[in-house]
Amino acid sequence: MDALLLKEYMNLEMVQMPEPEIGPEDILVRVRACGICGSDVHGLDGSTGRRIPPLVMGHEAAGEVAAVGARVEGLSLGDRVTFDSTIYCGQCFYCARGEVNLCENREVMGVSPGPYRRHGAFAEFVSVPARIVYRLPDNLTYEQAALIEAVSVAAHAVNLSGSPATHGDTAVVVGSGMIGLLTVQALRAAGYSRVIAIDVDDARLATARKMGAAEVYNSKTSDAAAAVRELTDGRGAGLAIECVGATDPIRTAIGSVRKGGAVTLVGNFAPSIDLPLQEVVTRQLRLQGSCASSGEYPAAIDLMARGAIQVDPLISAVAPLAQGASWFDRLYRHEPNLMKVILKP
Ligand SMILES: [Zn+2]
Ligand SMILES: [Zn+2]
Repeated sequence: MDALLLKEYMNLEMVQMPEPEIGPEDILVRVRACGICGSDVHGLDGSTGRRIPPLVMGHEAAGEVAAVGARVEGLSLGDRVTFDSTIYCGQCFYCARGEVNLCENREVMGVSPGPYRRHGAFAEFVSVPARIVYRLPDNLTYEQAALIEAVSVAAHAVNLSGSPATHGDTAVVVGSGMIGLLTVQALRAAGYSRVIAIDVDDARLATARKMGAAEVYNSKTSDAAAAVRELTDGRGAGLAIECVGATDPIRTAIGSVRKGGAVTLVGNFAPSIDLPLQEVVTRQLRLQGSCASSGEYPAAIDLMARGAIQVDPLISAVAPLAQGASWFDRLYRHEPNLMKVILKP
């Protein structure tokens, strides 16, 4: 089969590889669309240490069932499906608690951090355990379905954060990249009637407004946290969700919430940050980390199928897998206005 292989750092090549074998509990998926994730782009140069070549990357995919393992029930040839990017064991302490994103034996598709190598979906076929597979409704295209993983990340962050009944109707989203823009929509769908988006890029803020943000602030050219407090009787919002993962945006999130408010941390860029500790303690804020998703796939699919979350404006390009290397290169060089790029084997 055709596969886009990370042969060595900074070198992606189309190669021929054997079709993956499937075990009795696996299915073989014929990949129809696979999104390039920011983590794949970072994986290109080896800086994260989580993608050791040779490796086929890709974990945001959708396709159709091409073969079914002997013990798999409920899925048949030709079914249109997507799958979780996290492969959890289903047996450990955390899996038993339903916290599958925290699984002790967690593996991620298209990642090889050293202890394991899991080839991903930038290929004609990929093998996945049936327990992480979800059927797609007819009204979602494969390209749209490639964004379900990202939607589930946003839905998980909102679920962990709590509802407007706790926090009031105003929520702040810091960062208007892919996950931030989906989080704006997920908050709206969860009943937050006034969502405020903050970013350093006006083009992204314009998209945030289209995605339902009531107010947008550029934190490079204004004091965004002060603007949020002004909108909320001087107090601040009940909830902020941070989708960048660096000192400045996290400080903005902390400065945007009222006393007793909550800050959910989704952004995962800097390994450590400078935290305004006294502001957190004396204002009794709740900081909550949020990682991937656990059980939000069906909800994410439903939100998209009924149009409560729109992903089309976030898809910048759809291209054949054979052009993958050049799209990776454009993303790596931070070409402006590129959001999600989807490759089709
Ligand atoms: Zn991803
Ligand atoms: Zn587990």
